[in-house]
Amino acid sequence: MKCPNCDKENLETSTYCKACGAPLKPEDPKKPKKKLSKEDYKIIAIITLLVIIIILLVVILTSSFKNGNKDRVEDANKQSETTEMDESTLDVDINEYFDQDKKDEKPSQVMPNDKEDKKDKETDKKEDKKEEVKKEEEKKEESSKQKTYVTNYGMTIRNNPDYDAGIERYLDPSETVVIVKTQDGSNGSTWGQLEDGNWICIQDNNLIYLSEQ
Ligand SMILES: [Zn+2]
Repeated sequence: MKCPNCDKENLETSTYCKACGAPLKPEDPKKPKKKLSKEDYKIIAIITLLVIIIILLVVILTSSFKNGNKDRVEDANKQSETTEMDESTLDVDINEYFDQDKKDEKPSQVMPNDKEDKKDKETDKKEDKKEEVKKEEEKKEESSKQKTYVTNYGMTIRNNPDYDAGIERYLDPSETVVIVKTQDGSNGSTWGQLEDGNWICIQDNNLIYLSEQ
């Protein structure tokens, strides 16, 4: 039997050509898959090997490129910390590297932008503190101002801003008192200090005992 592919003579019983491996008989419909020749296997093996080599090369090149970038970024950071470089050039360089390496961004890396943010936050904090102090001073000033109140009920004058404090004397309703200082007490109460240093409850959660005049 002649091979239809290479014309070599083969045994009648052979299914495939001994020279090129081509099928000698019409293919069995039950076995639609063509058997691959040795050459086919060789080609597949070479292609696979090439693909593996290319993948390895790409991986090695990519990792070394990334490491190089990291080193450069770290060098730039060190320099920015130790020496006073031209800040505008430094910013551009670092931002370039930073953009390229964004996927590998390390949260611990302190970039100049972060430093600026920190400074901004610190100044914000200082301003907040200033405002707080100002408010406190205003509060003090206000509380130190003398105000005249009228009693809405019969009131008890105590030696401390507390319901359990010792009783000094009593006031009738509609009496006038001068409060020199206020202070918060228990039960949501506000106490006023009189000129003699004793205390009177201005209001609590239940009632307003003194009305400003
Ligand atoms: Zn053949």
